[in-house]
Amino acid sequence: MTKFEALGLNKSLLNAITDLGFENPSEVQEKAIPILLNSETDLVALAQTGTGKTAAFGFPLIQKIDTNSRTTQGLILSPTRELCLQITNELKLYSKYEKNLGTVAIYGGASITEQARQIKRGAQIIVATPGRMKDMINRRLVDISKIDYCILDEADEMLNMGFFEDIKDILSNTPDEKSTWLFSATMPREVSQIAKKFMHNPQEITVGTKNAGTSNVQHEYYVVGGRDRYPALKRLADTNPDIFSVIFCRTKRDTQRVAEKLIEDGYSAGALHGDLSQNQRDLVMNSFRKKQIQMLVATDVAARGIDVDDITHVINYQLPDEIETYTHRSGRTGRAGKSGISMVIVTRSEMRKIKSIENKIQQKFLSKKIPTGIEICEIQLYHLANKIKDTEINEDVESYLPAINDVLKDVDRDELIKKIVSVEFTRFYNYYNKTRDLNTADSGDHGRGRDYGSGGSNSGSVRYFINVGEKDGYDWMSLKDFLKETVGLGKDDVFKVDVKDSFSFFNTEAAITEKILTTFTDLKVDGRFVNVEVSKNPGGGRGRRERSRSGGRGNRGRDRGSSGNGGRNKRRDRSYGKSANSGNRRSKGKKSDFF
Ligand code: ADP
Ligand code: MG
Repeated sequence: MTKFEALGLNKSLLNAITDLGFENPSEVQEKAIPILLNSETDLVALAQTGTGKTAAFGFPLIQKIDTNSRTTQGLILSPTRELCLQITNELKLYSKYEKNLGTVAIYGGASITEQARQIKRGAQIIVATPGRMKDMINRRLVDISKIDYCILDEADEMLNMGFFEDIKDILSNTPDEKSTWLFSATMPREVSQIAKKFMHNPQEITVGTKNAGTSNVQHEYYVVGGRDRYPALKRLADTNPDIFSVIFCRTKRDTQRVAEKLIEDGYSAGALHGDLSQNQRDLVMNSFRKKQIQMLVATDVAARGIDVDDITHVINYQLPDEIETYTHRSGRTGRAGKSGISMVIVTRSEMRKIKSIENKIQQKFLSKKIPTGIEICEIQLYHLANKIKDTEINEDVESYLPAINDVLKDVDRDELIKKIVSVEFTRFYNYYNKTRDLNTADSGDHGRGRDYGSGGSNSGSVRYFINVGEKDGYDWMSLKDFLKETVGLGKDDVFKVDVKDSFSFFNTEAAITEKILTTFTDLKVDGRFVNVEVSKNPGGGRGRRERSRSGGRGNRGRDRGSSGNGGRNKRRDRSYGKSANSGNRRSKGKKSDFF
């Protein structure tokens, strides 16, 4: 008996679950499904984003629907059109072996008559946004007077978006004896009020701690000068060549501006905010979902609907006013059991906000340093080498080979490699070679013990390169675990783990270098050599240390001096972007010019 079977789910659902490839129920599913299947009860379920809440209510709801009747029996309210469609699609997958079950999505920005027609054809389940739902009730295009189940999904977000009155109106059109199931990531006062007002003795289940952020998200902050936010953002992107991220700005104007600058600098970026038409927003979201856009710059309101599983980084270009909002932002990554990173670019005066967020999410931030130019060059170099290694050979190149061989006949292999790599590397190098350090001197945060940043005072630590990365199924947590187990190290011995696509970096204290290198001599994992080398660049430490040896603590000034004034810097940014990035990114066929 599978774990899903043990929860009491019927055959057609179990078959669909097998097709979906779900092996075990998630915690919220394990807790909610038996309760909902076995009793008619109200329920409040608190679980973080990405924990599988849709199935937690979707499976029991589908099983409880009477498909012999065409009456609407279940209503799911969700905050945005995106989520509404997402839930509808999921429910359709869950109920694929269920004959005669109609699920219809009701949301704004699409034809109301078409939606009404779909309901007429039979919709035992309606998934709706509150605004459009209210509209349809008023126009008598839908009848929810006989529903048995009402589900409030992402209740906290619905209330955040000001849907309280709409929800109240909608619920007043439903029968008293229905069951109400409320699902939410957080439990602010407004949500408990809803629970009190509209529910009868709800059972309560909580997964993880209340109000906690997603725990497989690592939170990091980077302290920079107010005017360095944009160059800092670029460096963060350049250090993570395979980034797939949402970048949050506070205003629509900033959102548009940052997206435009990124596009101008050759990144595959797009803007998502309320001043765009629905059509424009759909275009951006579609490109993002297909990963044609690597960096989606968004406002909080516009991003509420984003439900994409593979987001690697959330970047807070500016911190939100409300701490609660930070939870929603960081919840966009680390979904579906994956790990993610939430980065915050802050100025020194905003540091106390970090403290308040830490209190709220019950998780510590890592203080990190914006990578130096040299570090970025190194990462890009390894990335390039791996890209060349993994590139599929285009056989059509064959017929040109004699001529090409002729041109290159006097270049030996070593030289050829150097030249190939230099083609792209030189552009990064020329740009970053002399750029200044963007980190402000000190975040005033001495109490954290270990320096997790790249650089800083970690003179005793050694940085390593290892030839496994995300492609091999690692993230920063699992790679750390792998290293600890393989080498036999303690909890805090491995730090600054940076996992890239096909390789990674990590640090240890110099005392264990020997042990590390010995372990990884001829070590095979799954039939493949895992290779560890001491990185030329100990987390940016070397370059900085060399500099400070001659310049002492005054290296900020020196750095700035060496790159000239701000104006020149800016100009360099742009030309760098066009030459180094737009070429190679666009040639991959990634479209970013959809405006
Ligand atoms: P939430 O609503 O809690 O944010 P979702 O219901 O959207 O989370 O689920 C997040 C992802 O996890 C979806 O891609 C979903 O298909 C997947 N998922 C849900 N339940 C399971 C499971 N038991 N096993 C594997 N994946 C699951
Ligand atoms: Mg959900």
